[in-house]
Amino acid sequence: MPSDLPHLRNIGIVAHIDAGKTTTTERILYYTHTSHAMGNVDEGTTTTDFIEEEAQRGITIYSAAITCRWNDYTINIIDTPGHVDFTAEVERSLRVLDGAVVVFSAMEGVEAQSETVWRQADKYHVPRICFINKMDRIGADFDRTFDQIRDRLGSRPMAVQIPMGAGPATQPGGIQGIIDLIEMKALSFDPESKGENFTVADIPDEFADEAQLWRQQMLETLADFDDDLMAALLEGETVPTQKIRDVIRHATLHNQIQPTLCGAALDYIGVQPILDAVCWFLPSPLDCPPVQGTHPNPKKQDQPQFRKPSPDEPLAALVFKVQVDQHADFCFVRVYSGTLKSSSRLLNPRTGKKELISQIWRVMAGSREKIDEVQAGDIVGVVGPKESVTGDTLCDPQRPILLESITFPETVISMAVEPDSSAERKKLADTLTKLAKQDPTFVARINEETGQTIISGMGELHLEVIRNRIKKDFGLDVRVHKPRVTYRETVRNAVEADGEFHRKTGDTTQYGKVRLRIEPYDGEESLCVVNKLKPGVLPAELAKVLEESVMEEARGGGVTGYPLMKIRLTILDAVYRPGETTEVAVQAAAKDAVRECLTAAGVVLLEPVMRLEIVTPEAFLGNIQADLNARRAMIVNSELRGDLCVLEAHAALAQMFGYSTQIRSLSQGRASYSMEPLRFEEAPPEVLREMME
Ligand code: GDP
Repeated sequence: MPSDLPHLRNIGIVAHIDAGKTTTTERILYYTHTSHAMGNVDEGTTTTDFIEEEAQRGITIYSAAITCRWNDYTINIIDTPGHVDFTAEVERSLRVLDGAVVVFSAMEGVEAQSETVWRQADKYHVPRICFINKMDRIGADFDRTFDQIRDRLGSRPMAVQIPMGAGPATQPGGIQGIIDLIEMKALSFDPESKGENFTVADIPDEFADEAQLWRQQMLETLADFDDDLMAALLEGETVPTQKIRDVIRHATLHNQIQPTLCGAALDYIGVQPILDAVCWFLPSPLDCPPVQGTHPNPKKQDQPQFRKPSPDEPLAALVFKVQVDQHADFCFVRVYSGTLKSSSRLLNPRTGKKELISQIWRVMAGSREKIDEVQAGDIVGVVGPKESVTGDTLCDPQRPILLESITFPETVISMAVEPDSSAERKKLADTLTKLAKQDPTFVARINEETGQTIISGMGELHLEVIRNRIKKDFGLDVRVHKPRVTYRETVRNAVEADGEFHRKTGDTTQYGKVRLRIEPYDGEESLCVVNKLKPGVLPAELAKVLEESVMEEARGGGVTGYPLMKIRLTILDAVYRPGETTEVAVQAAAKDAVRECLTAAGVVLLEPVMRLEIVTPEAFLGNIQADLNARRAMIVNSELRGDLCVLEAHAALAQMFGYSTQIRSLSQGRASYSMEPLRFEEAPPEVLREMME
């Protein structure tokens, strides 16, 4: 079925963990009839969390896209990770979607992670609607949450619904349903049919005044954006429903307001209206500006490339998730322009190679549907690409474009993993290769000295998730060692040194000599090799071998065995003796020169420093600050957000192991935090001393 762009929505549902994102998504899939048995997060049977790991943790870490249909609209729901340890993933999913539903809990209100995600959504100009969930909880408060959205997020929520009551439905004054302020009707959802049946009735008298007040507020807000509506309001005329919707849509698309809805997903209250609001108020791909990229040719990088969301433009698609199963890699792509056809070959500008698109699949909640082609604006899964990873562009080979520059943050924490039996060594290696494809911020390598497999990532939780996936998804039992900080090594001074190789075996002599300079360096790459060899000093092929050998040796790590960083190596001179200076001799001399340089320049050990954001009720602030001081963290900012304190701190990762447990016990579980790598800094001298001993 060719897509009908104006009726296509690519949305994400984003929320703080536990606000009800999974439950809401699950209900949506049920009402759109793509999922027959409604899952329940608490029983671990939901549809979007199709990795068991996530279902168990109750947090959705890995994105997937699911298509559903509502009336004559197609809605692609892009699953966004809820945990801030995965910032890169959150940002990528925000790039891929056109609009978002932000779920808040009417109990907890605006929490730290909702704020982080909200700021990221601002950065990408993503239009949003808000859903205030959990109106059935004791202590749920619509007004308070609404005010927090406005004040803490510095945004402009506009209620298009209000709840009829708050708290458990069975209690007096509990939630009975919702009032639609546009139609001025009361909606009640029948729990027997799991909310599938609902009645639309006149607003009960007890809510009439309140509804009138909120409607007036809505219309006054909208009058700011539309002169006709303003005039109608001043004249006291009734504003037609369609007019109200049009103005809301326009203002939402321009990020001037965020229409705000409410309900209780768990109790089946208010979910279908979210779908209506998505269709009415959130953008179609046509409402979004052309996607911008760069030319993959470094010489043309300053010429930005644009692609309109039209099937007639050259093809450009972004791989935003690679899901690997036992049989094939499944790449989720957003097609930004052109028409993607099965059996076509597309260029991956990162690798410079062409990839075959052998199959295209639309993924629904309970099934997959194979299709022949898909047009600009849509999101599908493709099978075929062999070397593409998350974040890669696939494009028309004649009209290359790079949509996302691929710079992955340096990993900061590592852990050795061992298969239970040596027979499973190969399986472990294959598994890790697959996992690295899905998540490029994760790295696996073999330590050549010890033969151990080392996995590295962005934080303790990140490694824990990977470890569980190895077990659950791939059925591999592994033993793990304690996670350790991944230090880096750099040099103190700039020095020059020679490396020499001299070997006589029988009648043959091999000889090589190389002079290098090493120096601290703050350029874009963490390691750079410059060849300043005068022409003719070495034959061209040996000069190339020399350059490669220097790089290879430097990549192997420094004096401490940790990876080198912030270093420039310059090849200054070499000695060539015809017949004796062989490839092997050049390699060995290069290796020797790198080692000599590293020792002579003085080792500096760098450690990862993390940025932390901690949100806590004031009562626990003292405890938390004292603990941070003991961990030698630097508190760089602290502010009050409503009745919560927000601390921003920088701390060495080495001091932060086990923090999630600690902060829970310091705050009776009330404080929350997020942590991400910030930069590398010189480690305390005693750490290096210990290492050298
Ligand atoms: P997520 O972490 O944002 O995906 O949140 P979940 O959907 O997993 O929900 C977290 C917890 O809140 C689960 O125990 C849900 O059953 C519960 N929950 C979700 N929505 C509601 C709601 O509307 N009312 C109540 N009382 N609980 C809810």
